[in-house]
Amino acid sequence: MSVRPPDPAYDVTVPVVIVGAGAAGLCAALAAREAGAEVLVLERDPVPRGSTALSAGLIPAPGTRWQRDAGIEDSAEGFAADILAKAGGEPDPAAVRTVTEAVGPALEWLADAHGLDFSVITDFRYPGHSANRMHGLPSRAGGELVDRLRQAAERAGIDILCDAQVVALHATAEGRIAGVALRRPDGAVEAIGCGALVLACNGYGGNRALVRRYVPELAEALYFGHPGNQGEAVLWGQALGAATRHLPGHQGHGSVAHPAGILITWATIAEGGVQVNAEGRRFSDESHGYSEQAARVLEQPGGIAWTVFDARIAGIARQFEDFREAEALGAVVEAADVPALAAAARLPEAALSATLAEVEGWKRTGGTDGFGRGFAGTPPLVPPLRAVRVTGALFHTQGGLVVDGEARVLHGDGHAFPNLLAAGGAACGVSGSRASGYLSGNGLLTAVALGRIAGTVAGRTARAGADGAERPVPAHPAG
Ligand SMILES: Cc1cc2nc3c(=O)[nH]c(=O)nc-3n(C[C@H](O)[C@H](O)[C@H](O)COP(=O)(O)OP(=O)(O)OC[C@H]3O[C@@H](n4cnc5c(N)ncnc54)[C@H](O)[C@@H]3O)c2cc1C
Repeated sequence: MSVRPPDPAYDVTVPVVIVGAGAAGLCAALAAREAGAEVLVLERDPVPRGSTALSAGLIPAPGTRWQRDAGIEDSAEGFAADILAKAGGEPDPAAVRTVTEAVGPALEWLADAHGLDFSVITDFRYPGHSANRMHGLPSRAGGELVDRLRQAAERAGIDILCDAQVVALHATAEGRIAGVALRRPDGAVEAIGCGALVLACNGYGGNRALVRRYVPELAEALYFGHPGNQGEAVLWGQALGAATRHLPGHQGHGSVAHPAGILITWATIAEGGVQVNAEGRRFSDESHGYSEQAARVLEQPGGIAWTVFDARIAGIARQFEDFREAEALGAVVEAADVPALAAAARLPEAALSATLAEVEGWKRTGGTDGFGRGFAGTPPLVPPLRAVRVTGALFHTQGGLVVDGEARVLHGDGHAFPNLLAAGGAACGVSGSRASGYLSGNGLLTAVALGRIAGTVAGRTARAGADGAERPVPAHPAG
């Protein structure tokens, strides 16, 4: 991984080159193409998957037509306030405004121009969101999202070169990106010139050394994201003198079925479930969110907890392909009552009974437990019960390259690189520097919203040509 001077003669030069074919890269590609530029996406894997394919594919967006159809009132201002509240005011409000205003139109654009059939989730709400604003495709799985984006890109005539790992950027002394070097599986290295470069190769979650440096509390945790996300965007940026921010920020998750290794939706908690440790006792206020819960679960004996819920909640969770898979694999324990659950999960019966009785008491009285979780209005757990043995995991990193409102990467002194852009996990997100700052959906939010912006601006930058005169870009159809 390095930054080198430009190659004297590129065999091929493409106006817009994009590194990474996850949600950010593919949204950028579609937008750059729409802006009239030829686009080449370089993807290290044989098939575009990325963390996007591992995700639940849920994208938060305010003011969409799907919300209006469901009678949900929401606004970009309300969404921005939720993001800032969850992250304790750490993120740059201007960056938050950019993505919260852009994401709704971006989803409607993906639906109208590219046929992605989103719907809004109305039967549960993730912690910290003041409105039902999670949108997903029918399977509620990120595999469907990345496949649909790839198909749209192929239909738009965008070239996606797979098995092409970018190993170096070529930059002038002034910071203009001239091209990239990529390595093929047989070891051959090729150089490609570009008019503009979009970094969409996510963060450093797959790079154990960087995780140890920036997120030591999860250094030994399961990494549940895409292993190919090695942090090149940050490393290249640092070599170029780019600004980085909030590098310890990340999305953890405190409910990954273990040992099955399947995400168990937080709807299990949001709808009234709880987590107990191997001693049958609760250990936290689970309602803050799944991200900060990763480290709390890992602090428990064996780094293990049980997520306990009931059949009604299982019915809601079943809309997720992951949950259905967990059930099919037998990772979801079913029991007629608490003693049977204790036996099936090998948890101490007396402690589990006392814990669940206490929780149900707070639900009846609308009380708040010793951890600060308020149970007013939370439905009771009604037998038959369900439980899943889970652990905490690192999902992806949220710190990264600082970009402006046009997704242009900024130098340390605040001025923008002329033709370098970043989106998704490659860019600094809107979660601040702590796990607790991650509001559900912040990952795909910046992948989709910033991805579209980065592609549009890259297309415009590349079209500006050698004379530097920017030419008009077609307006966004939905935004
Ligand atoms: C289990 C799980 C569930 C999640 N659920 C949600 C959710 O429901 N909602 C949400 O908002 N977020 C969710 N997230 C987070 C979300 O998946 C990410 O924030 C999002 O996918 C990031 O998109 P991206 O395009 O930046 O990165 P990715 O999708 O990871 O794409 C990056 C691509 O770049 C490629 N690449 C990397 N380096 C190179 C290189 N040097 N050369 C060429 N290619 C390269 C990679 O192979 C990859 O294909 C979840 C994450 C996980 C792990």
